[in-house]
Amino acid sequence: MAEPAVEFRSVSKGYDGGAPALSSLTLSVDFGETLVLLGSSGSGKTTMLKMINHLVEADSGEVIVEGREVRTWDPVQLRRNAGYVIQNVGLLPHWSVIENIELLPRLEGWSQSRRRERARELLGLVGLEAHAFEHKRPSELSGGERQRVGVARALAIDPPILLMDEPFGALDPITRRRLQDEFRKMSERLGKTIVFVTHDVTEAIKLAHRIGVMHRGELLQLATPETILRDPANEFVRELVRTEI
Ligand code: ADP
Ligand code: MG
Repeated sequence: MAEPAVEFRSVSKGYDGGAPALSSLTLSVDFGETLVLLGSSGSGKTTMLKMINHLVEADSGEVIVEGREVRTWDPVQLRRNAGYVIQNVGLLPHWSVIENIELLPRLEGWSQSRRRERARELLGLVGLEAHAFEHKRPSELSGGERQRVGVARALAIDPPILLMDEPFGALDPITRRRLQDEFRKMSERLGKTIVFVTHDVTEAIKLAHRIGVMHRGELLQLATPETILRDPANEFVRELVRTEI
């Protein structure tokens, strides 16, 4: 069997004083797969994403990325290996769109012309016309446009893994649907390993190759959307997807 892109082996994590954020979690993500972590607020989804980048450390167990435990990775290499997209994007407000996208290529020492070319290519990929958008500031963009720039920035140095934490959560329903449709096409084309976090069942079903249902730090089910709808692992999962059937 091929080695997974990301693997959690019996990973547990507790933050000071609270209930365990993750309890002996085991799961693997295949290369090229879009795995959606679905669960309500506080179920441990963000904690899992941050562990893949070693921004959060496991109390016990192992988190393995491309065959190596995250503790043995150089932290800079590890984070450049995985683009990170979050809900409110975190674009630098005083920088133009194109400067924001060029951030990592610049740190990597790419030439100006190569950076520009790459940034414009990415603007096209996420559906923004370069000439109309590249010199705008983040404050001059709509929420959907900002989110597209966030995706373009995460892809700038072509990382094999994309980590997306409720990236479309703050958008109006129409924009959200449009970005989901584009995300699907884009992910098929790029073939990256994507771990996508959401609390939205419809979004999970639409985007996932497989869904991991999280509840209170535990993985309740890991299966394709079809299997989860047809054969939920327990009453909780059944109730969660009930409105989708
Ligand atoms: P989700 O992303 O599914 O909403 P999180 O991974 O953010 O869940 O949180 C899981 C649990 O861990 C929650 O109970 C949350 O309150 C707690 N938690 C997350 N981050 C911290 C932190 N930095 N300090 C203390 N508790 C935290
Ligand atoms: Mg979260």
